[in-house]
Amino acid sequence: MNVSDSERAASSLESEGYEIVSNENLADIVLFNTCSVREKAEHKLYSKVGKIRSQQNLKKPLIGVLGCVAQLEGETLFQKSQIDFVLGTKAVGRVSDAIEHVLNGRKHFVDLGEREENYDWSVSETQRNSPYVGFVPIIEGCNKFCTYCIVPFSRGREKSLPAVQIIQQVLELRGKGIKEVHLIGQNVNSYRPKTEAGLEKFKGATTFSRLLRAVAATGMERIKFTTSFPRDFHADIVDAINENENLCNWVHLPVQSGSNDVLKAMRRGHTVESYLKKIDKVRTSPKRISLTTDFIVGFPNETEKDFRETLKLVEYCQFDSSYVFKYSPRTGTPAFQMIDNISEKEKTIRFLELEKIQKIYQQIALQFYIGKTVEVLVEKFSSKNPKELSGHTTCNKVVNFESNFENNKELMGKIIKIRVTKSKSNTLYGNTL
Ligand code: SAM
Ligand code: SF4
Repeated sequence: MNVSDSERAASSLESEGYEIVSNENLADIVLFNTCSVREKAEHKLYSKVGKIRSQQNLKKPLIGVLGCVAQLEGETLFQKSQIDFVLGTKAVGRVSDAIEHVLNGRKHFVDLGEREENYDWSVSETQRNSPYVGFVPIIEGCNKFCTYCIVPFSRGREKSLPAVQIIQQVLELRGKGIKEVHLIGQNVNSYRPKTEAGLEKFKGATTFSRLLRAVAATGMERIKFTTSFPRDFHADIVDAINENENLCNWVHLPVQSGSNDVLKAMRRGHTVESYLKKIDKVRTSPKRISLTTDFIVGFPNETEKDFRETLKLVEYCQFDSSYVFKYSPRTGTPAFQMIDNISEKEKTIRFLELEKIQKIYQQIALQFYIGKTVEVLVEKFSSKNPKELSGHTTCNKVVNFESNFENNKELMGKIIKIRVTKSKSNTLYGNTL
């Protein structure tokens, strides 16, 4: 979501005549788009601003803060950091207005307002993170209020975008040569627009699976979606993936913990048993659907036994990959009232142990592809070896490969077959057929 917001901020500035530079030392204006999910991300902002402000010889750029830290901190950011303006999560479309206010002499400008009625969700081609991949927000905000999480406060309540608008956007992206769209939101499968207009023709027990089928019918070559909320993840989503070749073989389903006591304290709305049923359904698919997840270790009162249950869940689910986070207390959340009683040392021990076991399953998942042929959307030259090209599979694996084509540039943006020859920690390697 943040990458997608950054793309839109950059492209709206570009359309107003600003030039986007690659290096902050060249910039007259530096914008930070911030995350507040964990305290560490917030501290990064303060240290980066401090670094820019301490560079004596360089021009003094204007500094603006966007995103979740901006939304939560508002005015108080001016006391914590030497910045010029603050723009909340829904004010990202007004970034050029903010700059103008500051250039006209307004000090400490803050805009935490709502999104404009006619907000333009499009992104210019030049400002895309990948020229062949487009992010399409389908739902904003979150109503779930997991006890540890700041997102409902920073991004507000859930608001689904109209299906007609989403389908239109996907069709436009397809017309511009985009090969893969990512339908994004904090919980995409909680999608519930005010009307079902645009979805009438499509079947499915939930509005989200009807939307998936509608987006699949646009003919977009690949469709990925993230993140799915376990409680709202129903069998019809897997059915839609099974029926549509262009719905990708990847489900990100954050479990957080393998202990029912911890899940209850987190107020996740799912149990280990209900989660595993969903995993079993995904595993019934004739496609090999890649499963990924998130964990939080060291939640208040998480016992050694609770943690062992998480390891047991990992053994059962055999995730293709996961993000593991150490619990970070966030002011204003219900869990902030609980005593953060798992020491930093213990959190680190659990973090490392979970990572170690997860890495084993990650390797098994990657090794599965060795000797097989996979389809890769070619996106760029590999950063480590410019002779190699790099892209993603339908199940979101990174593949670096050598090509026997004469003009590799012509491969960019194409989906081609690659024979996988080896795997390393996070990447598959191979060559063209
Ligand atoms: N909405 C998604 C869900 O509930 O499955 C997740 C979105 S959340 C922004 C991304 C991840 O950040 C969560 O899955 C969780 O693992 C992690 N996270 C959120 N709050 C956290 C906290 N206070 N400390 C550590 N990790 C946290
Ligand atoms: Fe945060 Fe829970 Fe909402 Fe996910 S569902 S964004 S973890 S409150």
